[in-house]
Amino acid sequence: WKSERVIVSRQGPHLRLAGGGAGILNFCANNYLGLSSHPEVIRAAVEALEKFGAGLSSVRFICGTQSIHKDLEEKIACFHQREDAILYASCFDANAGIFEALLTPEDAVLSDELNHASIIDGIRLCKANKYRYKHMDMQDLEAKLQDAQKHRLRLVATDGAFSMDGDIAPLKEICQLAQKYDALVFIDECHATGFLGPNGRGTDELLGVMDKVTIINSTLGKALGGAAGGYTTGPKPLIDLLRQRSRPYLFSNSLPPAVVGCASKALDLLMESNAIAQSMAAKTQRFRSKMTAAGFTISGKDHPICPVMLGDARLAAVMAEDMLNRGIYVIGFSYPVVPKGKARIRVQISAVHSDEDIDRCVEAFTEVGRKHGALP
Ligand code: PLP
Repeated sequence: WKSERVIVSRQGPHLRLAGGGAGILNFCANNYLGLSSHPEVIRAAVEALEKFGAGLSSVRFICGTQSIHKDLEEKIACFHQREDAILYASCFDANAGIFEALLTPEDAVLSDELNHASIIDGIRLCKANKYRYKHMDMQDLEAKLQDAQKHRLRLVATDGAFSMDGDIAPLKEICQLAQKYDALVFIDECHATGFLGPNGRGTDELLGVMDKVTIINSTLGKALGGAAGGYTTGPKPLIDLLRQRSRPYLFSNSLPPAVVGCASKALDLLMESNAIAQSMAAKTQRFRSKMTAAGFTISGKDHPICPVMLGDARLAAVMAEDMLNRGIYVIGFSYPVVPKGKARIRVQISAVHSDEDIDRCVEAFTEVGRKHGALP
């Protein structure tokens, strides 16, 4: 059974928890850019709520499309330098909708074995031939692409950044293979949009393949304001097709105006300047280098998801608990969420952590690590 800690303040670097925990330093939200409680994002939500109401009481194609939904779709496409975009209530829905709408039993989908659950579920819903390649293993992907030549269309699907390890898909190599074997590339950018790459466009920008990745799904519920919502962006004919066929889009309520207002303002802030993303990168670097110097192994590279690798499930659980006793909120992950023997505490850095917050976290880890034998 999982339990939920109840927060009685806004989402941010400092939290108040129900039952008295005040001044808790939060290192486990996907609030990478700290926009969840940004004053301009909140103001934009209030303005959208006042002007456009609480919600649409309708799906988009009946009477649920407002000017702000169209504006946000245009802004998303512009941000990613794609032709068009379509909004969903979540990225889970975007992933649930795309494969079934696009692929037929004559087609094939090739999916990284560690893809997010929503991609796995989306693929389950479609009738295409399914191939699962070993995590980021290009030899295995190539072998599967060769086998999939018999099908009409091939789609390679991968997370851009993997949330459990903070590692980044080798998109350059994936795109080269896709070109060689005439496949399309789909990436889920939930843990990349807004901050990876020189202008925060994501993994495709970071790895120089913006013109090679055909389809991007991402969320508005993490770096882009953190409210909720997801989208697909890509070629216009694909987006047109999704508007006709994608079931979570056709049969679920429109995004509430306040949520649209948040995301729209978050994108404005990021398109004006990449200072926030740079600040997050600097904090990430500070945490990773200090923790490594203290003797910990941090998985992944340069990503604000910093998994502190511990191996033993019990050790991860007791250390996370002890960190909270010291006012630092982090979460331990163990099997079945991650493979057996690879238990870890996942730390997530945000642009709104101060240098002092980062240093306090490293100090607490060092104390707790020594106490429980994770450090000498
Ligand atoms: N894809 C990935 C990689 C995620 O991490 C998540 C959220 O945890 C999702 C999709 C789902 O996003 P949303 O919360 O918008 O449904």
